[in-house]
Amino acid sequence: MNNNFSDIRSSVASLCAGFSVEYWRELDEKRAYPSEFVAAMTKSGFLGALIPEEYGGSGLGISAAAAILEEVHLSGGNAAACHAQMYIMGTVLRHGSNEQKNKYLPGIAAGNIRLQAFGVTEPTSGTDTASLTTTAKREGKNYIVNGQKVWTSRAEHSDLMLLLARTTPIEEVERRHQGLSVFLVDMNISIGQGLSIQPIKTMINHATTEVFFDNLMVPAENLIGEEGKGFRYILDGMNAERILISAECIGDSRWFIKKATEYANDRNVFGRPIGQNQGIQFPIARAYAQTESASLMTWQAAKLFDDGEVCGAEANMAKLLAAEASWEAANMCIQTFGGYGFAQEYDIERKFRETRLYQIAPVSTNLILSYIAEHVLGLPRSF
Ligand SMILES: Cc1cc2nc3c(=O)[nH]c(=O)nc-3n(C[C@H](O)[C@H](O)[C@H](O)COP(=O)(O)OP(=O)(O)OC[C@H]3O[C@@H](n4cnc5c(N)ncnc54)[C@H](O)[C@@H]3O)c2cc1C
Repeated sequence: MNNNFSDIRSSVASLCAGFSVEYWRELDEKRAYPSEFVAAMTKSGFLGALIPEEYGGSGLGISAAAAILEEVHLSGGNAAACHAQMYIMGTVLRHGSNEQKNKYLPGIAAGNIRLQAFGVTEPTSGTDTASLTTTAKREGKNYIVNGQKVWTSRAEHSDLMLLLARTTPIEEVERRHQGLSVFLVDMNISIGQGLSIQPIKTMINHATTEVFFDNLMVPAENLIGEEGKGFRYILDGMNAERILISAECIGDSRWFIKKATEYANDRNVFGRPIGQNQGIQFPIARAYAQTESASLMTWQAAKLFDDGEVCGAEANMAKLLAAEASWEAANMCIQTFGGYGFAQEYDIERKFRETRLYQIAPVSTNLILSYIAEHVLGLPRSF
């Protein structure tokens, strides 16, 4: 994904030039939200890239959106603070009513409405989404929500949360993924009225939280699509998410490779650049090859997605390869920098921590391998 969307890429690059590595480093140390960066991304319209023009967005495809996020990561920044604004709205766009689309999408495109929080994962269900236990029970014109989510990122920086909750008990459905429903929760009116948020301290600056629901009232009109079909709706959004996260990994990877190459050329030990040693050269070359191949797969997945073709296998493989490439590149980079890789002022250790996440979230490597093994290759189901 290098030579495409050069105009978009150069606009993103010049926006990111206003947010130096020192900016990101300081926020990382304070574990503070990059509000100025998110405001700039919002104002530029980049976060509304995937929203159709009729709702005030740019009406671009996933390939363009991926190019935007890759550039942010290539600059040494981190788009995780706002990337969800790009794609969570896809569930409303694909499955919401016309009324819901008209009500929310223009505001999301303009950035007046932040739809950044995605409440799926729970403490006891983990990867096994169908076994989640948060319930939404219909009572008159409302649903009453009880339960808990974990790792709900950006909940404190979002006006709406897309929530997946069980509306029919698991014992009463034929298949366990049935009976789950998706809601838009208005965070501003819910906090303190049955919804509370507890930040989680993590090894990266990620604004992630636990969210508790205690008889939270959600108007029935906030149900997206049909009751009981929420799992399907969430799955529909996953390919987009995987492709976009792959692009972030590729941006990270290219950042590590650039840093390592420059350092290996400059750093002299035993009277010559360390990059003259093949022990230093080869890991950099390997990271480069891995990154380019992951980029090709990401590009292929994005193209299929934009053409409206089936792309589950490619999106999953892209995410697997890109997350592995960025992690290998991070490891290579820290090794190339030796002791200095650990010094905060070089930013390697920050990016190293940040890119590690993508082996786990939004989907772990094992779960992707399981998808490829069972859904692509037809091996027996293991769960
Ligand atoms: C910083 C951060 C931000 C996040 N943001 C969000 C968010 O905004 N919204 C949200 O809903 N979630 C979010 N998540 C949650 C994330 O999607 C989950 O952590 C991830 O899906 C894994 O779930 P788990 O942590 O419960 O791991 P578990 O499901 O407990 O799994 C633990 C390990 O076991 C492996 N494993 C489990 N079952 C199998 C199996 N059958 N075969 C092989 N291996 C298996 C997994 O791959 C994993 O490595 C975030 C997580 C983090 C760390």
